Amino acid sequence: MDGAEEGMSSTGAGGSMSHKECVDGITKSLQHPTVRFLREKMEQAGCPVWGRLLMAITCKGQTSAGGYSSGRGITICCNHMSFQNEIDQVIIHELIHAYDDCRAKNLDWTNCAHHACSEIRANHLSGDCHYKRELLRGFLKIRGHEQECVRRRSLKSVQSNPHCSDITAKDAIEAIWGICYNDTTPFDRAP
Ligand SMILES: [Zn+2]
Repeated sequence: MDGAEEGMSSTGAGGSMSHKECVDGITKSLQHPTVRFLREKMEQAGCPVWGRLLMAITCKGQTSAGGYSSGRGITICCNHMSFQNEIDQVIIHELIHAYDDCRAKNLDWTNCAHHACSEIRANHLSGDCHYKRELLRGFLKIRGHEQECVRRRSLKSVQSNPHCSDITAKDAIEAIWGICYNDTTPFDRAP
């Protein structure tokens, strides 16, 4: 399935970077240690698609930060980027989807459980839910916070999959939560 919407991630902010600053930022991201690590792991897993994997685009949706699809690779919504670390974050999140796609071979983005599992991993392992990042979004609760954040963000993404209803998305996340949250491959533990 090459649907462009699969694996979308979102940001609250409208971007203030120019397209050129964003493209330069993407190049800079390639030196980020986590990005380098994931790139190495993808190559080891037999997915040498690097040269055309990342694409800077202008997105129509209000909140999308980027996306991944098997056919198109990773897209970064440059019109919504304001900071280098947002670009790093989007690339790391989408690279985890790309890694999952690569290692599973038969990953089916129209299958809500498959999509849910990859979202849980991407939101957990990318640090999308680190405490400071959540503070900036205005979510202040501390206890159990990281998992709640991963759940919330994953649910939102799976619900935006045209193949998954709100209920199906919720059920899929609950059903595979333990397995996918604890699957930190290719990291030894959540970075
Ligand atoms: Zn995602």
